[in-house]
Amino acid sequence: ARDLDLEFRVRADLKFEDIGGMEKVKDDIRMKIIHPLKNPELFAAYGKKPGGGVLLYGPPGCGKTLMARATAGEINASFFSVGLHQVLDMYIGESEQKLHKIFELARKSAPAVLFFDETDALAADRRDMRQSAGRNLINQFLSELDGAQAANDGLLILGATNAPWHLDGAFLRPGRFDRIIFVPPPDVGAREEIAKIHAKGKPLVDFDPADIAKRTDGFSGADLRAVFDQATELALTEAMKKGSVVPVSGKMLAKASKEVKPSTRKW
Ligand code: ATP
Repeated sequence: ARDLDLEFRVRADLKFEDIGGMEKVKDDIRMKIIHPLKNPELFAAYGKKPGGGVLLYGPPGCGKTLMARATAGEINASFFSVGLHQVLDMYIGESEQKLHKIFELARKSAPAVLFFDETDALAADRRDMRQSAGRNLINQFLSELDGAQAANDGLLILGATNAPWHLDGAFLRPGRFDRIIFVPPPDVGAREEIAKIHAKGKPLVDFDPADIAKRTDGFSGADLRAVFDQATELALTEAMKKGSVVPVSGKMLAKASKEVKPSTRKW
C-alpha cells in the first residue's frame, strides 16, 4: 500500500486562486462538488446526493489536472492522480487488481479526491487495443464507481478526457460520471491571469500581462508556460554571456509567443 501511495498521491496544496481565470469552471465545481459535500442535507432535500463522479473535458493543457488538484485543496482532501496507462500497462488480471487497490487506498485516506487522467482509454470503440482498456478492466472500473457511490464514504471521483464522446456510454450513467464540466481554452482575461501566475518569481522588465494575453489567442495554459520557458532561456543565455542577471523582458516574451504554436485552435 505504501508503494501505491508513493506512486499516486500528489500534494493537494493548490487552491482555486492558483489557477488563472476559469471562473465559470470554478463555479461549476463549487456547485457540483463542493457545496453538495458541505451541505448534504440541503442538497438531499432536492434529491441530490454527494459522491459519484465528475468528468472534466476539454483540450489538452488547459488545466483539468490542475482543477482536480485544486478541488482537493479547496476541501482539504487527499489527492490521488492516476494516469490510466499506469493501470493499463500490466498483465491481464493485474490491472484489475491494481485498480481495486487504488480505490481502497483512496477510501482509506478519505476525504479524498481520486483523479483519473487519460480516461480516453475507456473508449468503447478504440481500434488500438494496446492503449485501450479491455472489457474486464472496464467492468472492474464500473463496479468500483458503483461501490464508491453506494458507500458514500468521502471519496470523490474525477476523470479527465479530451474526447468524452468516445467514452463507453456505461460510464456516463447516473451515479457514475454523471456530471460533466467543460474546461475551455483560456479566454483573453484568463490568459492575462495565467501569465501573471507563470511570471511569479522571475526577474522581469517591461512585463505587460495584458499584452501577452493579446498575443496568445488559441494558447492553452501549458502553451503559455512554454512561452515563459522560452523567454527565460533567452534571458539566461544573455545572462551567461554577461555573467550577471538579465531580466526576462516584454520583448523576449513577445518573441517567444511567436515561436510557440497555439494548440487549442480547433476547439
Ligand atoms: P491534459 O489533457 O494534457 O492532461 P490538462 O488539461 O490536465 O491537460 P494541466 O496538466 O492541468 O492540463 O495543465 C498543464 C500545465 O499548464 C499546468 O501544469 C500549468 O503549468 C499550466 N496551466 C494550464 N492551465 C492553467 C491555468 N488556468 N492557470 C495556471 N496554469 C495553467
